[in-house]
Amino acid sequence: MQKVEKFIPLSRPTISEETIGEVVNVLRSGWLATGPLAQKFEQKLYEYFGNRTTLCFSSATAGLHASLMAIGVKAGDEVVTTPLTFVATANVIAMLGAKPVFVDIEKGTFNICVDKILDACTPKTKAIMPVHYAGLPVDLDPIYEIAKQRGLRVIEDAAHAVGTSYKNRKIGAFGDIQVFSFHPIKNMTSGEGGCVVLDSEQEQKFLSLQRFHGIDRSIWDRFSKNGSCYYDVIFPGAKSNLSDIQAAIGMHQLAEVESLNEKRRYLADRYRRAFDDMDDKFSLQKIPNYDFVHSGHLFPICLRDAGKRDRFMSFLKENSIGTVPYYTPVHLFSYYQKTFGYKKGDFPNAEYVGERILCLPLYSGLEEVEQDYVISMVKKFFE
Ligand SMILES: *Cc1c(COP(=O)(O)O)cnc(C)c1O
Repeated sequence: MQKVEKFIPLSRPTISEETIGEVVNVLRSGWLATGPLAQKFEQKLYEYFGNRTTLCFSSATAGLHASLMAIGVKAGDEVVTTPLTFVATANVIAMLGAKPVFVDIEKGTFNICVDKILDACTPKTKAIMPVHYAGLPVDLDPIYEIAKQRGLRVIEDAAHAVGTSYKNRKIGAFGDIQVFSFHPIKNMTSGEGGCVVLDSEQEQKFLSLQRFHGIDRSIWDRFSKNGSCYYDVIFPGAKSNLSDIQAAIGMHQLAEVESLNEKRRYLADRYRRAFDDMDDKFSLQKIPNYDFVHSGHLFPICLRDAGKRDRFMSFLKENSIGTVPYYTPVHLFSYYQKTFGYKKGDFPNAEYVGERILCLPLYSGLEEVEQDYVISMVKKFFE
C-alpha cells in the first residue's frame, strides 16, 4: 500500500484554471456585486433545468426560506419533511413560525419513507419538503400524487442533487419547486450560493423582490447607464442575492458538473465493490428499484455497531482521513424538542441511522491511490 502523506478531507471542491481566470476577470471588471454574470449564470441554469426559470440566492437556506414564503407558509402551518437532513431544511420552516412535521426515513436508502407521508398530513399541512439525501433522488411520483390529492405544494430540498435524475427526468426539470445549494462542500459550488427553480410567475416575482430588499428593479438596471436611480419598495425583503464573483465560479462549475459527478460516481462504485464483503460491519445506501442517477455528493456508510462510530472516526482521523456523521436527526436538537415537543424514540429509523452513519471522503479530485488508502484503513479498523 502506497503511503498517503497529506490529509484526505471529506470533500474538496475541484476548481479549474478557467474558473480562476473568470474570477480574476470579474475582479478586474469593476463590478463585483449582482450584475451581468449573475444574469448569465441564471440563463445557463434555465437551460440546464429544461427551460425552467431559475433564481439564484446567496445560499440554499435563503432560497428555501423565500420559497416557503412565496407559497404562503405562515405561523401555525405545517410542512412535512425528513428528520435526517441538515438542520437548514427544518430551520426555515420554524423561522416562519410553522411546524416541521417529521416523517421517519427508510433504513435502507436513508430517504424519507414515502409510505408514511399521507398519515402525517393534517388540515394544517401546506407543503412537503423531501430531501434527496446524499444525492439519491427520493421516490417522487408518490409524493406528487399525495400533493395532488391533498392540494399541497412540494419544495424539493435538492441541496445534494445537481445532476441527478429520477426515472429519466432531471431533478429540477420537472415538478413543483426545487432548491439547490452551491456551498463548497456540495457537488457543485459557486463559493457560497444556491438557486430556486420554479414555474409560477407570481412566485418568481416574489423571490426576486425577497432576495433584494423588496426593491422593484434590479440593482444592475439602477446603476447601468440607462437605468433609473429611483426605486420603490414593495415589502421589507431580505438581502440574499448572489454576486458576480460567485456567478463566475458557478457558471464554470455548471459546465463541468456532469463530468465531476461522473468521476464521483466512478469512485462511489469503487467503494461499493471494495466493501462488497463488509456487510456484517456496515451497510451502504440501498439502491431503490426505480431508475435514477445519483450525484455522488456523499458516500454514507451505516455501521452495524453504533458503539464503534466514535472510535472508528477517531481512528480514521489519526490516519489522516476526514469523515462526518451526517446527520444528527433534527428532532433531537434541543430547540426542536422544546418548541415542538419532539423526543427521542419518535423516529426510530432516523435515530438508528443517525447513531451509526458517517460519510467517507468522496470528491472528484480524490485520487485512486488515496481512495485505496481510505479503503485499506476502513478494513484495517474492523480486522
Ligand atoms: C447544505 C444543505 C442545505 C443548505 O445549503 P446552503 O447553501 O449552505 O444554505 C440545505 N439542505 C441540505 C440537505 C443541505 O445539505
